[in-house]
Amino acid sequence: MTDSLLPAGDWPEMLPGWVWLVGAGPGDPGLLTLHALNALRQAEVIVHDALVAPAILDWANPAATLIDMGKRGGTASPKQRDISLELVDLARAGKRVLRLKGGDPFVFGRGGEEGQTLVQHGVPIRLVPGISAGIGGLAYAGIPVTHRDVNASLTFVTGHDPSGHAPQLDWSAIARGSAVIVIYMGMRNLDDIAARLMAAGRAGDEPVAIVQSATTPDQRVLETRLDACAAEAEAAGIGAPAIVCVGRAALLRQALDWQAMVEGATPRNPDPLGLGPAEGA
Ligand code: SAH
Repeated sequence: MTDSLLPAGDWPEMLPGWVWLVGAGPGDPGLLTLHALNALRQAEVIVHDALVAPAILDWANPAATLIDMGKRGGTASPKQRDISLELVDLARAGKRVLRLKGGDPFVFGRGGEEGQTLVQHGVPIRLVPGISAGIGGLAYAGIPVTHRDVNASLTFVTGHDPSGHAPQLDWSAIARGSAVIVIYMGMRNLDDIAARLMAAGRAGDEPVAIVQSATTPDQRVLETRLDACAAEAEAAGIGAPAIVCVGRAALLRQALDWQAMVEGATPRNPDPLGLGPAEGA
């Protein structure tokens, strides 16, 4: 497959009747993969969700039909079953189908369920991973999700279960076991989640960063603490889509806020962990 927008190479061809499940990354079109771009160039039908930025859809083949499966302006979002079966129908009609999702399709993206439905109906699939908001979105805020002096493990958690409440998890085990906790879809239940973490022993003054619309021109970052994060987010008008980082990783933004440096700022604090030179032994 050759396309003038892609570097020379042997790019996979999207065949009729196939569905490609593709991650679009957190927002910045520059974070698309080349496989995602290849898919956008070839697809006849692109079924995308609300988190996929218009600037990314601009890369689509001009002849492609775009179907927005996202929640818009308060209208109810289509049911997962309807989306999955729509993909089956499009594939059976012989279309080249791109299912484009924000971030990574397999990270809190229901890509697994959609892939299973397709496979169960005999539709062949290809999977293209994307940069997940919990990693790339935090990186755009200058927050490394792992750092040798902070954490040797990492927990990704969703802030709500299908009923809309904080999921029934062993929050105490998470609080004790993971120095850095990255919460997707956490804004609605942030108060509840913060309370559970503090009840399990996390300090009220533990650093928290909340990144709204990460990697987009609308990106906003709130640096706060566990006992105040929900109230401060509300006061600042920070809401979904936002990723929440609980733990000392959030402090590293004081040194690594590279976007501020691009704008000419000097690092606020090159050594926020107070450990001296970072180059190690
Ligand atoms: N598959 C996606 C996650 C989908 S769940 C991924 O891998 O990133 C939707 C949640 O992802 C949002 O509620 C928010 O918590 C997070 N998210 C996705 N895009 C985001 C962005 N640009 N900025 C902040 N959070 C984002």
